[in-house]
Amino acid sequence: MISAFSAAGWPVESDGFAEGGQWAGYPGPLWSLMSRPSQEDWDADPDDADRVDLTAVPEFTFIAPRISINTGEAMVHRVPATTGPADLVAEVSAALAQARGQEIAKLADAASCSICGDRYPKQHLLAPTTSDKLTVCPACVFDGDLFAAAHPTRLAFEIDRLINEDLTVPAGWSAVVALLACGGGEAFVDHLGQAGGLYLPAEHWSDPLLLWIWLPPGPRPAALTALGPGASLKAVVAAIDIAHPDLRERFRAALAEDLEEDPDDPQTDREDYLVESLWPAVIAYAVSFGTQSQERPGHRPPWHVLSDSFEPGTLADHFEELGSELDGGSLAVTFTLETGVRTVAEALGWTTGF
Ligand SMILES: [Zn+2]
Repeated sequence: MISAFSAAGWPVESDGFAEGGQWAGYPGPLWSLMSRPSQEDWDADPDDADRVDLTAVPEFTFIAPRISINTGEAMVHRVPATTGPADLVAEVSAALAQARGQEIAKLADAASCSICGDRYPKQHLLAPTTSDKLTVCPACVFDGDLFAAAHPTRLAFEIDRLINEDLTVPAGWSAVVALLACGGGEAFVDHLGQAGGLYLPAEHWSDPLLLWIWLPPGPRPAALTALGPGASLKAVVAAIDIAHPDLRERFRAALAEDLEEDPDDPQTDREDYLVESLWPAVIAYAVSFGTQSQERPGHRPPWHVLSDSFEPGTLADHFEELGSELDGGSLAVTFTLETGVRTVAEALGWTTGF
């Protein structure tokens, strides 16, 4: 199971030992359990020949969300563990996509983003600052109109809770994780570890490439058609790199045009504004905002993030709180995000309008 989903581009974690008669794993947003349905000795290792009937065929149970205590299970899908790897991934992918689509269709928008006013379910708007009253959509986290102090630690906890407990989490929150994780690095991981008490920071804070990215349920850019309902940021970045190897050059050309630089000017000491360490976050924004546009038809797409919502002062506040080595207030950071996300989105065939 682990190698099958890993080969399909999913981030997969596992406990690595049997407990309570089950082997637990975490492929993407799912919790998977493997056990022998008829096993009577409930806490035996399911492969312990002395205590368990090894002729009983083991079974996988895939559950979403991963933690369903507060929200209930949106998906419980059982598959015989004798299913071949490719069929296993295909079947579970289809079940996950269907469950997410059905749950999203049930959502009611009862609240508005404090900054842009777009309507969302109340539980999907989160607080990026020290103020409890300012709750925003994924596009407005780094907006310049947020006048309270940045609080990325709390935001990180809130996004992780949503990812773990809500199968309908707006796709765009993954982009915010990617930016905080790419910007923050190890310093932010330490910060989260100290602030969290019993909470262990998710793996994607240490390695943003392990982050789960939801992919568009409907028609997709050619670069992403080989992937399932979602994939690791690593797999998404690789797929886009292969399909569009010239994206960094396109970014530099687009930015030169924005800055009205003369392409024929032989000036050789022109500054390269691309912040390479943020490039995975740029990909995460472009792809997950494209997904969110498709998953919330009838709503304004979140591309308005490209209209001054990567504000240098707000980014500087967040990056300082993260302990980042990057100057979040530098023009390079804002240029990389704004022009980068627009360039990648357009290369994927999406019209951002900005
Ligand atoms: Zn908003």
